Amino acid sequence: MTGPKDPIRSERRAPAKLNIVTQAALDQLPVAALVFNEQASIVSVNPYASELLRLPPAELLNRSLRDLVHPDDHHLLRPTGTVRSSASAQTIRLHGAADIVSVVCTSYAMADGRMLLMLPVDHLIAEIAGLRNDETRWKYALESALEGVWDHDFSTGNLFYSATWKRLRGLADDAEVDGALDRWIENVHPDDRAHVMASIGRQDSGEVTYNTFQYRERHADGHWVWIESRGASVAYGPDGKPTRIIGTDTDITPRKEAEARLEEISRRLRLALDVSKIGVFDHNLETQETLWDERILGIYGLDPKAGAPSGRSWEDMLHPDDREKAIARVNDGVAAGAPFTNAFRIVLANGEIRHIRANTAFYVDRDGTRKLIGANWDVTEDIALQEELRKAKAATEARNRELEEARIRIEYNALHDYLTDLPNRRYLDQILADDPTLNAILHLDLDRFKQINDTLGHQAGDAMLTHAAAILRSHADQDDFIARIGGDEFVILCRRGRGMDELGDLAARIVHAFRRPIPYDGQLCRLGASIGIAWRGEVETDPKQLLMNADIALYRAKSLGRDRFEVFSEQIQNQILSAKRTGDDIRQAIEEGQFVPYYQPQFDAHSLELTGVETLVRWDHPERGILPPSHFLKVAEEINALPAIDRNIVEMAYADFAAWGRAGLTVPKISVNVSSRRLRDPSLISDLRAMNIPPGVMSFELLESIFLDDLEDEIAATIAALNTLGIEIEIDDFGTGHASIIGLLNLNPARLKIDRALVGPINESAKQAKLVRAIIDIGHSLNIKVVAEGVETWEHAAILRELGCDILQGYALAKPMSRLDFEQRIKSGWKLSPNADAPPEKGRRYKAVK
Ligand code: C2E
Ligand code: CA
Ligand code: CA
Repeated sequence: MTGPKDPIRSERRAPAKLNIVTQAALDQLPVAALVFNEQASIVSVNPYASELLRLPPAELLNRSLRDLVHPDDHHLLRPTGTVRSSASAQTIRLHGAADIVSVVCTSYAMADGRMLLMLPVDHLIAEIAGLRNDETRWKYALESALEGVWDHDFSTGNLFYSATWKRLRGLADDAEVDGALDRWIENVHPDDRAHVMASIGRQDSGEVTYNTFQYRERHADGHWVWIESRGASVAYGPDGKPTRIIGTDTDITPRKEAEARLEEISRRLRLALDVSKIGVFDHNLETQETLWDERILGIYGLDPKAGAPSGRSWEDMLHPDDREKAIARVNDGVAAGAPFTNAFRIVLANGEIRHIRANTAFYVDRDGTRKLIGANWDVTEDIALQEELRKAKAATEARNRELEEARIRIEYNALHDYLTDLPNRRYLDQILADDPTLNAILHLDLDRFKQINDTLGHQAGDAMLTHAAAILRSHADQDDFIARIGGDEFVILCRRGRGMDELGDLAARIVHAFRRPIPYDGQLCRLGASIGIAWRGEVETDPKQLLMNADIALYRAKSLGRDRFEVFSEQIQNQILSAKRTGDDIRQAIEEGQFVPYYQPQFDAHSLELTGVETLVRWDHPERGILPPSHFLKVAEEINALPAIDRNIVEMAYADFAAWGRAGLTVPKISVNVSSRRLRDPSLISDLRAMNIPPGVMSFELLESIFLDDLEDEIAATIAALNTLGIEIEIDDFGTGHASIIGLLNLNPARLKIDRALVGPINESAKQAKLVRAIIDIGHSLNIKVVAEGVETWEHAAILRELGCDILQGYALAKPMSRLDFEQRIKSGWKLSPNADAPPEKGRRYKAVK
């Protein structure tokens, strides 16, 4: 071993790559050196190599090693052209310009190529042989060497181990070493024994001249030491087997540990990359060469063994929509010279689209080459998941929105009237439950709504209601609360503090607005409004009570003829309450048949014969006994119960009348009082027809006041129908109203009944008597019979007879009486005599004029 740094002994697998080898360093090497670039072309040659191959450096440059290696040894070369060396140095035959020369060579990886160091085998052998002559010098040299040296001279049986050799194993410098193979092998790690024995066997058999192996040997302390052993056969026996082998042992434990650590780190990194599916690439911006690892190739759907994207470039594989942006991002990153991230889609050869994330670092390597190194990973599934989540979230949100809208809609509908869009009764109740700002309530009811609805149909009714809502909206304040609480009922809650004057003004304006006819379907509809007002004023009133008060005032407004407003007061309330009670009682009385007919006979003024009876209603009250009309007629009219009462009375009266006829009791005629409402009752005529009343026996007493105005068509038609049925007309209470004579003519009544207010004074006032005579004369001139009412004394009866009156009716002659009383009186023979000293009924003077 000549030089201090025998290349053969240099560590072939140096952990760090040899970077820069200057020509000067090469020139000084005691071995032949060839430096190759990455393309395996020779770029440097040292003089030793030039001399060894007998070629000037210029002729060696740019050549490949293959050119120089003997064809028989081409199998020792890698396809890339470098030496295929395993753990050991390689012996190889070269043919330069000279003869074939065998060299021992070893190859080093460098950052951008390889370096091949060579020594001619002849030279080595000569060197080693030379050493035999100077054992002392040799041994001395070995002592100072860093490697442990061993020298097995089988011819002499001399086994030498240097001090370093011993120190490696923790032995003292002067320790005795038993070099016997079978003893030494005991110290070798059991796992290494087989390959150690095989290696030694190959050398001992002469199979190889040089031998290198690594193994673990036990240190004196007990731990394992990694040793790299190199041996060279330097002398041979005649059988071709070595007789002397010299070798060196190097402690490679630190290297092994570093390797193990490196291996461990690499394994972890590989595992991490495998698990994370992160692919790594390395792109040379100068050469545009790209190295891709198998994972990134897999991500791009390329052959994982390919090492680099082939066929298509990265840019080609980008999704067309993302291409421009992704490339711009790379260019920006390169320009900035800083790490950057990227996100884009790629389209695989099979058309599949994948979402990629990238982290890239820009760097310049030691030769100034600009490079990108980066990682790509596939986030397609994440994106799909995100998209799904986003969709699910959007769907949920949309659903929630719909539900919320539906809830609001339902809530709104529950609190509003669909037709007018005004708040409804329910909403009103909610507001009333708690509204400290409430100042007054206007309760409004439409007049004639029912008629319009009945005659023109629901659509017309709806149009009226919509119109009504519009009127209220236009008159009420912004912060007033308007509600439709029933068919044609509305409520305005006034919130702003307003005085009674202001409220009255508001109600008056609304009533006025409702008087204006509303066009509908080519005709004009006349609505009208009645309003009740309840004002909170200074007195705190419960809102519910306030609404009830407004209701009472409304009732009043309606009973006073509608088309007006009324303001609630305690007095109104009391009146209304009692009327209401009476009203309720009347309704019940009708149902229970408590209204019964009484009969007051009428007599011929001259003969005093019974000419007929007037039917007068009585309320046979279960507690109060027989009540005359003054107790209930007004209320019955207000609650519109009069038509029902009139109808019942007519039926009962006629039934009695018919029964009298059958019983042979002679009653020539019967009259009934008919209210104006009953006269307008559409069912009147058909009801009468059904009763089959013979003509001429029944007459209707109609109040003069009914005919005050021009005769309505409707009533004229009814009168005509009554004429046809043979029911006669009598004008009741004649002289109190102001009916025109002409109007009466048109009516063609059978009789006039002079009001008892006119009859009463005739015995005291000649003027009054003249008036009665004038009426009688007018009647007679029109061929109308005249009846005098309220004949309270026989004196009256006598005067009336003299004035020409035809028929008399009054307490002097007979009071109204029940059917039974009446029947009994007839049966017992009616006997009236104007000359009688004592009249059958004691008269009562008429006292006051109403
Ligand atoms: P009217 O039609 O003028 O009836 C005559 C009223 O005078 C009756 O009062 C009768 O009792 C009363 N009367 C009879 N003779 C005399 C008398 O000599 N002196 C005085 N001071 N009064 C006398 P009544 O029965 O209380 O009826 C009052 C009014 O009630 C009736 O006045 C009539 O307008 C109405 N009325 C009675 N029955 C009915 C009915 O069935 N239907 C309708 N719509 N109204 C009726
Ligand atoms: Ca009457
Ligand atoms: Ca009368």
